[in-house]
Amino acid sequence: MSENTQNTQGFNTRAVHAGQGFEPRTGAVVPPLHFSSTYAQDGIGNLRAGYEYGRGGNPTRDALQEQLAALENGTHAYSFSSGLAAEDSLIRALTAPGDHIVLGNDAYGGTYRLISRVLGSWGIGNTAVDMEDHTALAEAIKANNTRLVWVETPSNPMMRVTDIRAVAQIAHEAGALLVVDNTFASPYLQQPLDLGADVVVHSTTKYIGGHSDVVGGAIIVKDAELAEKIGFIQFAVGAVSGPMDAFLTTRGLKTLGVRMKAHSANAMEVARWLQARPEVEAVHYPGLEDHPGHELAKAQMRDFGGMVSVQFTGGEAAARTVAEATRIFTLAESLGGIESLMNYPSEMTHASVKGTELAVPVNLLRLSVGIEDPEDLIADLEQAFAKL
Ligand SMILES: *Cc1c(COP(=O)(O)O)cnc(C)c1O
Repeated sequence: MSENTQNTQGFNTRAVHAGQGFEPRTGAVVPPLHFSSTYAQDGIGNLRAGYEYGRGGNPTRDALQEQLAALENGTHAYSFSSGLAAEDSLIRALTAPGDHIVLGNDAYGGTYRLISRVLGSWGIGNTAVDMEDHTALAEAIKANNTRLVWVETPSNPMMRVTDIRAVAQIAHEAGALLVVDNTFASPYLQQPLDLGADVVVHSTTKYIGGHSDVVGGAIIVKDAELAEKIGFIQFAVGAVSGPMDAFLTTRGLKTLGVRMKAHSANAMEVARWLQARPEVEAVHYPGLEDHPGHELAKAQMRDFGGMVSVQFTGGEAAARTVAEATRIFTLAESLGGIESLMNYPSEMTHASVKGTELAVPVNLLRLSVGIEDPEDLIADLEQAFAKL
């Protein structure tokens, strides 16, 4: 658990300093990493700084949690061993058998798999809806014992934009809570708690860690009662992040603002280049004026982020050829690192939703545009397109 008191400062100041005070004994500017699994007690139950055992609390994890809460304008943050571990703990903290979750019909495949195939057999129902269809959303909530509405915006991989404020209102009117998976935008671009969401979840593996070298997840809230329930599950179930993972995530998070600026600028250049190519059927990037969510994205995001999806007129074969022909864009799962990645969702990240209503077009590639020089990224795409 961590309390946040620094929200009067700018985003980058908070990113660098929240939870990161120097170590008082030596003055070490970077707080030391605490690997200890247990803590000496000055008499039975007499703890020095509240620390007892590593699953319940660790100073390195606390430093990350304080930083995360500060950047999402929350009061409490909880760090987990992966994004899905965070989601599982969140759902177990806030639902019981017989409850229902309404999620977007283009949710991350792993989230859908967790909710439908794991939690489904424990008695949690789900309905997938088009989050832009507010009537369908309200009906799905009311027709069920809906406890959570689950939104990803921009969504993965279709880059659709959901109106967080409007969906929060619909959820709240029906007595449900709004969860926003803020992985794609990151807190630098979008702060869902300020727009009415009750809970933010992250795969910190992506932009927050930012260097493709650590897997993690997080939950951030601004309500003490929700915080208590989530903190209890984090402690009682134990899917916590380890000290080294927490440290790497904190180090990445310090530079989130400068990285997101570079990702967004590069992605805009790549999206515009793709848009002008005859091999391309559609480009999905909220920064493009003709994207259906462009105005909404402008209103609720600071910039448009580093993720671009593209569909080819040459169908599946063209998508596969380009995916396997790039040299700087590495063909790999995941996203949000400083290096550019190329993903064929239908067979890679979204293989788990193949054949379901969440299935992804087979002529689509998803690009995680890194912070390399944009001319080099475009030259790489150009030589890959030459193979078509
Ligand atoms: C990767 C991802 C997750 C899952 O996180 P892991 O860290 O891989 O467990 C959840 N949501 C989104 C949007 C993701 O991209």
